[in-house]
Amino acid sequence: MRAVDIIIKKRDGHELTKEEIDFFIDGYTRGNIPDYQASAWAMAVYFQGMTPQETTDLTLAMVNTGETLDLSHAVKTAVDKHSTGGVGDKTTLVVEPVVSACGLPVGKMSGRGLGFTGGTLDKMESIPGYRCDLTTAEFLAQLKEIGLVLTGQSADLAPADGKLYALRDVTGTVPAIPLIASSVMSKKIAAGAQGIVLDVKIGLGAFMQTEAEARTLATRMVEIAHLAGRKAVALLSDMNQPLGNAVGNALEVCEAIETLHGGGPQDFREHCLTVASHMLVLGGIAPTEADARLLAEAALRDGRGFDRFRELVSAQGGDVSYVDHPEKLPAAPLIETVPAPRSGYLNRIHAREVGEAVVAMGGGRERKDDPIDHAVGVVIHHKVGDRVEAGQPLFTLHARDAQTLAEARERILSAHGWSENPVEPLPLFYGVVR
Ligand code: URA
Repeated sequence: MRAVDIIIKKRDGHELTKEEIDFFIDGYTRGNIPDYQASAWAMAVYFQGMTPQETTDLTLAMVNTGETLDLSHAVKTAVDKHSTGGVGDKTTLVVEPVVSACGLPVGKMSGRGLGFTGGTLDKMESIPGYRCDLTTAEFLAQLKEIGLVLTGQSADLAPADGKLYALRDVTGTVPAIPLIASSVMSKKIAAGAQGIVLDVKIGLGAFMQTEAEARTLATRMVEIAHLAGRKAVALLSDMNQPLGNAVGNALEVCEAIETLHGGGPQDFREHCLTVASHMLVLGGIAPTEADARLLAEAALRDGRGFDRFRELVSAQGGDVSYVDHPEKLPAAPLIETVPAPRSGYLNRIHAREVGEAVVAMGGGRERKDDPIDHAVGVVIHHKVGDRVEAGQPLFTLHARDAQTLAEARERILSAHGWSENPVEPLPLFYGVVR
């Protein structure tokens, strides 16, 4: 078999066999197939697509390039969640402790932010001492002992994805449905999840811009889970405007802590309760989403979710005084509240623009190894559909210096769109794929 023949076959729109996919993925991971051939192949997949069978074969080929975790000694039912990435998406910080407080242990491997999307690990590292580099043995031991782990992706699981994702990121081949589906699902399957809740984002701040594309991606991922003998449900959720109010690492940790204390922005709290409910049903803790929701609400109300978050931070070496007193978290030297330049109804808060503005302030990274500034970011004060009067606070910037503050002010002001007439709020969810 030759890599070039497989590239040509895909370029010309034909279906690859399982053997061809295995050969290509295994060869690329081992370094026998060079980046330039893998780039050409990824571009061919981008244009020609893949059938559901090819996408499943690709996922399993990626799983087989590394270890697969067996969580059965640590937990009865391993349930995981995955978001396809967005702006202000700090859901894991609330959902994991809440779900675990309801009796379902969760061990999760998360990623870092790349481009305009934030990453859970970067947020958690706003807490001094918090370790995101647990070994597999530490992961399993902590899961068994306290039923809660939140760490980085192990390089031993689906190594093909790490390599391929980095290549896709610089070759314009990230937003291809078969490539995203196999990337996400290979990591989840290798990490031992028996049930997976997928949060597929749609809109201006997501890889999938339309509901139709997102539904196709969601369906593909749920099919792969079933073919691999796992349970899965995919939620189609809005990412036109930021989720919650805070965008920026430490600011998002503060907002997650507020939410764990029973407060927090209404949209974010609702989003977390929905994701948590689906996880609790998949994990067999509650028979219906309505029952599960009552459990999750109680865990937020009586502080058990917060207590679990505290235990998680402590178990992973973080300084819990920062969780008890979030005002100690890294703070930016310049804080400015920007007033609304006019009166009207908000018809847009462009999530991608807000995300890019925070990256440019230093809150994200342009390249994989760039350092990040945990303190900077923005807190928006309104949502699409709100009526705002000229001069009312529109957003608050947390910046390192005057220049980045001025640039972010202009960019985030332009990200807000206005209408004279009433505007419908954006839905939180567009549907569920089971
Ligand atoms: N998230 C992933 O894990 N992989 C992708 O390809 C896109 C989003």
